[in-house]
Amino acid sequence: MRSLDDFASNKLAELDRASLRRTLVESAREDGLYIARGRRRLLSFSCNDYLNLSHHPALKAAACQAIALYGVGAGASRLVTGNHPLLTELESRLARLKGTPACCVFGSGYLANAGIVPTLAGSGDLILIDELAHACLWAGAQLSPAKTLTFRHNDTAHAEDLLARERGQFRHALLLTDGVFSMDGDLAPLRDLAALCAAFDVWLMADDAHGLGVIGNGRGSAFAAGPEALVPLQMGTLSKAIGAYGGYLCASAPVIDLMKTRARTLVYSTGLPPAMAGAAIAALDIIESDPELTKRPLAKARLFTSLLGLQEAQSPIVPLIVGAPEAALEASRRLEEKGFLVTPIRPPTVPEGTARLRFAFTAGHADEDIIRLADAVRRCADLAPTRQSETPCPRSS
Ligand SMILES: *Cc1c(COP(=O)(O)O)cnc(C)c1O
Repeated sequence: MRSLDDFASNKLAELDRASLRRTLVESAREDGLYIARGRRRLLSFSCNDYLNLSHHPALKAAACQAIALYGVGAGASRLVTGNHPLLTELESRLARLKGTPACCVFGSGYLANAGIVPTLAGSGDLILIDELAHACLWAGAQLSPAKTLTFRHNDTAHAEDLLARERGQFRHALLLTDGVFSMDGDLAPLRDLAALCAAFDVWLMADDAHGLGVIGNGRGSAFAAGPEALVPLQMGTLSKAIGAYGGYLCASAPVIDLMKTRARTLVYSTGLPPAMAGAAIAALDIIESDPELTKRPLAKARLFTSLLGLQEAQSPIVPLIVGAPEAALEASRRLEEKGFLVTPIRPPTVPEGTARLRFAFTAGHADEDIIRLADAVRRCADLAPTRQSETPCPRSS
């Protein structure tokens, strides 16, 4: 179809002009740290494999064993025949870690959010969402007919103003936030949000994709402040620190039962493959038995922020905002020349004017490599006087 191809080509040309086109690069992840791209071998600071578990022998063995027992694909939706025994075991393990009575595993984190939010909030309800919440929390909100209001990033007072004005007009209210913000690395003020939600009868849901395994002794951002979970709806992914694939919600038994009968992305999508469940259980064994390991990614990130005089890292994610998309692309290219993979992040993943380098630190990064990285960054990104510099890497340095 001529009009179809014209549409796609024009869109692509528009994105090219704005330096916002994205392309897939074949990336063979060799060991949880290094990546082969063509002939080059790059040390990655862009993987969310915070504990390097995706290549851990115990996870590989568990995945192979699960395949040997239950096959490769799940065969059907969990409500039909896709509910293999490893899913039950995985759910009870996640619930135990999160301190909730129950858990529901989904096909991915994205599918979890796209299913959970519209199951809980419908017409006549209110959704409050942090402006920097992950795209799939937004997708969940967009799938719901509830009225959605945005509050300024991590601004509990703004959320309170909105609730004071609006809460009375709605039956139920759901507040959505990341626990650890994926592109900024900062933590949500969960203690304050939990108090606010209690005062206004609002259901608090935190997406802890980047908290599980690395914050709160591995139990996630709801435990950053202590052993009591602050959040009744703890969502997360098995695709990051867990090193496998899949998503979950930990919550009360009635909430989880409701998900299992009503969440459309669970009901109408094939169950998580057995190998992923087996690997995730093996990862939980490691996380629960080695709290020191879970502390390491944050310590590595803090080494980096102290070397560069940046604000101290709160999570393994450290952003370096350069402003223009071209500047982020150029800075990333310069780091790649030095052997480091730091993927540039551009709008619409982040707000206009805040294109950035996003560094993700893992337990296995050597301190010497972080020191070399910091040197390379200092050379190629103009850090002074603020992080908001729009200066691209000077070619001459
Ligand atoms: C990666 C991510 C997701 C999606 O999880 P997948 O399992 O990769 O689909 C959800 N929320 C946040 C905050 C994320 O960073």
